[in-house]
Amino acid sequence: MSTDAEDERRILARIVRQRLEALGRAGIGQIPLPVPLPAAPSMPPKPATTAVPASPKLAPSPRPAVAPTAPAIPASRPSLPPPVMSSLFEEPKLEVSIPAGDREGLLASMAAEVSKCVKCPHLASTRTQTVFGEGSPTARLMFIGEAPGADEDRSGRPFVGRAGALLTDMITKGMGLSRDEVYIANILKSRPPENRTPLPDEVANCLPYLERQIAIIRPEFLCLLGKTAASALLETALPLGRLRGRWHRYREIPTIVTYHPSALLRNPDWKRDAWADLQTLMNAMGLKAPDRKKPGGTGSG
Ligand code: SF4
Repeated sequence: MSTDAEDERRILARIVRQRLEALGRAGIGQIPLPVPLPAAPSMPPKPATTAVPASPKLAPSPRPAVAPTAPAIPASRPSLPPPVMSSLFEEPKLEVSIPAGDREGLLASMAAEVSKCVKCPHLASTRTQTVFGEGSPTARLMFIGEAPGADEDRSGRPFVGRAGALLTDMITKGMGLSRDEVYIANILKSRPPENRTPLPDEVANCLPYLERQIAIIRPEFLCLLGKTAASALLETALPLGRLRGRWHRYREIPTIVTYHPSALLRNPDWKRDAWADLQTLMNAMGLKAPDRKKPGGTGSG
């Protein structure tokens, strides 16, 4: 079993490789070595307190940063952000705007393409079928998990097992939406054997499909379920506890990170935090929780 340090090294290696590949595609074949700086003159001592500019409304887009440092993140789990400002949630500025009427057809043809994918030979040879994703092509909100499990592999649909039942409760009982109103997908479209964590190469192979799904649907919000989804889309090796409780941007789309429903099944105490994440999302989306007896009971567990 790999350690967190090994996981982080693998994630960082993948981020560097993807960045180099992107530079290559852009025609940049060489990266000049940094010129050594002359010895810095001695600097006056820093004042005891430094004026800090007002913090940005959102965490900066992760795209330009390979391994973002997090100077503003306290060591302890951050509290949830104050009520978000409306300017944070302007229309996402994605590169391409696909007409709403074209999205279903584009997703269907892409699903057919993915169903034949063998980029990960081992996964392609062990899966029953690919699990592309499902939901509204015009969804305001997209949930993104890790990979299909056994139930999903059998049915061809995302989040249909016990974790799926909990996610469905979070969407319906917690947020007052239906599954048909959102879009649900995973980082991997093929099941890893024994439900193991996806390998970095597998994530790198499959991520372009998800990126195309997001570009077609253009959701207003993303909710990343678990560390694999957060690491892949936000290109960060930070642990989940340091990604929760604040807003991120994925290609200008306001993005929240929360626990994967499978983790909530193993750790029911975390449901309170997951509920707080959903409430942050709902406030931003202008949604009110449906009337019910126990506002914190997001699922049967
Ligand atoms: S996980 Fe994705 S990239 Fe790998 S074989 Fe399946 S569909 Fe293809």
